Amino acid sequence: MSVTGVVQGVGFRPFVHRLALRYRLGGWVRNEAGEVRIEVEGPSTDVQAFVNALRTEAPPLTQIDALEITRTSVKHWTEFRIVPSEDQPDRRQPVSPDVALCAACERELFDPANRRHRYPFVTCTDCGPRFTVIEAIPYDRARTSMRVFQQCAECLREYDEPADRRYHSESNSCPVCGPKVWLEIPGTEGAVEEGQAAIEGAAHALGTGRIVAIRGLGGFHLAVDATDEAPVVRLRERKGREAKPLAIMVRTVDDALRLGTVRASEEPLLTSRERPIVVIKRRRSSRLAPSVAPGLDSVGVMTAYTPLHQILLDLVQRPLVMTSGNVSEEPIATSNSDARARLGDIADAFLLHDREIVARYDDSVVRVVDDVPLFLRRARGYAPLPLEIPIAAPVPLVAVGPHLKNTFTVVHGNTAYVSQHIGDLENLETLAHFQESLALFRRLFRIEPRVAVRDLHPGYLSTRVADELGLGQVMSVQHHHAHVTAVMAEHGRTERVVGVAYDGTGYGQDGAVWGAETLAADLCTYERAGQLRYAPLPGGDLAVRRPWRVALGYLSLEPSEREAFAAAFDGVDEAERALAEQQIARGLNAPLASSMGRLFDAAAAVLGTRQVAYYEGQAAMELEALAGERNADPFPFPLDEEDGAVVMNPIPLLVALGERRRAGDDVRDLAARFHESIAAATIEVARRVADGTGLSTVALGGGVFQNARLLAAVQRGLEESILEVLVPRRLSPNDGSISYGQAASAAALLAREGSS
Ligand code: ZN
Ligand code: ZN
Ligand code: FE
Repeated sequence: MSVTGVVQGVGFRPFVHRLALRYRLGGWVRNEAGEVRIEVEGPSTDVQAFVNALRTEAPPLTQIDALEITRTSVKHWTEFRIVPSEDQPDRRQPVSPDVALCAACERELFDPANRRHRYPFVTCTDCGPRFTVIEAIPYDRARTSMRVFQQCAECLREYDEPADRRYHSESNSCPVCGPKVWLEIPGTEGAVEEGQAAIEGAAHALGTGRIVAIRGLGGFHLAVDATDEAPVVRLRERKGREAKPLAIMVRTVDDALRLGTVRASEEPLLTSRERPIVVIKRRRSSRLAPSVAPGLDSVGVMTAYTPLHQILLDLVQRPLVMTSGNVSEEPIATSNSDARARLGDIADAFLLHDREIVARYDDSVVRVVDDVPLFLRRARGYAPLPLEIPIAAPVPLVAVGPHLKNTFTVVHGNTAYVSQHIGDLENLETLAHFQESLALFRRLFRIEPRVAVRDLHPGYLSTRVADELGLGQVMSVQHHHAHVTAVMAEHGRTERVVGVAYDGTGYGQDGAVWGAETLAADLCTYERAGQLRYAPLPGGDLAVRRPWRVALGYLSLEPSEREAFAAAFDGVDEAERALAEQQIARGLNAPLASSMGRLFDAAAAVLGTRQVAYYEGQAAMELEALAGERNADPFPFPLDEEDGAVVMNPIPLLVALGERRRAGDDVRDLAARFHESIAAATIEVARRVADGTGLSTVALGGGVFQNARLLAAVQRGLEESILEVLVPRRLSPNDGSISYGQAASAAALLAREGSS
């Protein structure tokens, strides 16, 4: 029989072996490239019991997609064996993500009597690195970066013993034979400490306010004491990360509870085998340094997911900032030499190890909205598990994804392998990461794409990448259409829906900056049925960091409202403002934009909460924090009809915000009223488009829907209007899902071409 799904690197063969022994069946099991193949012989009732148990008792990490049974001739096996893997060139199969330290290994880690006591690389068939060490399939140690570590006699005994929980555990190792840790100090040659002393040295450095670069599972972290303001500020200065929130690592859920409120729907995520960063509501009384997440009422927390992190947190006994080991905007460092070179000016010490990282792998980030997890970033623990697309691609393809928050997707048939988070394609390091990862995916999943899919924007690096792949055909998919098809596809939908895509920026088919679009769309085509009124964006991309510029653009549409907008320009440099006004007047570098992300910026400027932003979305995240859960009434947000499309006019809303602010209203109430206004207008536009087209399903996508308050309000309002609502579940609402949407759309287009 053959079993397909996530069945390699998850302890499946040992499990099959144990079952065969239990039912006294002869035969064998082996990994093949596309599946696990099993042959058993015995009385038919025992074989049946064996097959049932395969399904019901499979180890936790397995995911059985199909189990196919065929009869073969009797061979009179006298025993059951695990036989060497067999490769078949044309087959492919999922690769398991890395898995957090399991409970059994954690007990051994802290058991003084165990031979792996405080061994930072303890793993078993249920846990440890997978994707980050696998170079090719089938999954065997020889095709992983563990191959350089020869198992010692005792490890081999475990590996060969069917009853052992490390039976055929490919990442098996121990203090005698496995990877080593050591501590380095920049400016000093070689290791200053090794083994336990190295981890103790790192803990001591952290406890005395130092910045330590730590090599982890999928790359480096930069760590500091999260309760001490001075080192957190120093880390921000050296890393060039002004205000973006920093993630925190703690050892246990109890430790997380001291930092914030952990809801019943959040706790399972903190202890899951994926262990993402979970954005929770911060406790006012928490010991966290103010600079961890300035201006926000939330904090991203994860629990220690490797044995190395467990030991370190046990030693420091305090929450640690664990931010990606990079200079702002670059990909995280993975190799020791890369880290020494790039992080040498940031870190005071390096905690290194010699298990090579095959795939760069950022921490995943999740936020729970209405008790359902929403991805903000999908990487460690989740990628590269495949998703389905509803219409199979007639030829293999690669979708290269968006410009920012890039992921790519390779497709074979109905199966879409969405890459881990790659980053912003704005520098050569990220481009190299993209290309290395794409090469790895092509090799791991044996996909030779024949079609490249890209964004409409002619100038993006991703566009050049797609063109330079040299494939026979290049297709393009509009950014917001891809947001909508991504949500449709993960829900298996092919019929036309109303798609609401709200984000910061996407290239529109008319050349303008789109970002508040309501589409009537299926996988192949779309019509733009609703949008935000266009306003000039003086400075183009620069406006992302200058919310006052966005406000100025809106003011130019209604110059008589100068007074209501006044707060937006408090303290803004006169010359810079004059220049921006000229850009608008002359139409120079002032593209028209219909961006919901930018409308949040304009609102923050008019409310006086933020005129200059240090990262995209800062103004919006602060407005969401200010609004909290306060009840509020919407302001007027009129809708006009233009050429059959609904146009939302935000000027009266911005004027109302400015006027109420000047009248002394609490800015928190105004932030809440702003959210309610956006939600009400969104619901109304979607309802009108649904009425006009006869559609009854609404798909919500785009980074603006990372805003929990807005997402929940829009979802509830639409459901009250008896519309079915689809929201992103398996991928992020933000641009991380664009490549998957591009792929789903291109596959449908190619299939339609082929059949006509
Ligand atoms: Zn384990
Ligand atoms: Zn060993
Ligand atoms: Fe987007």
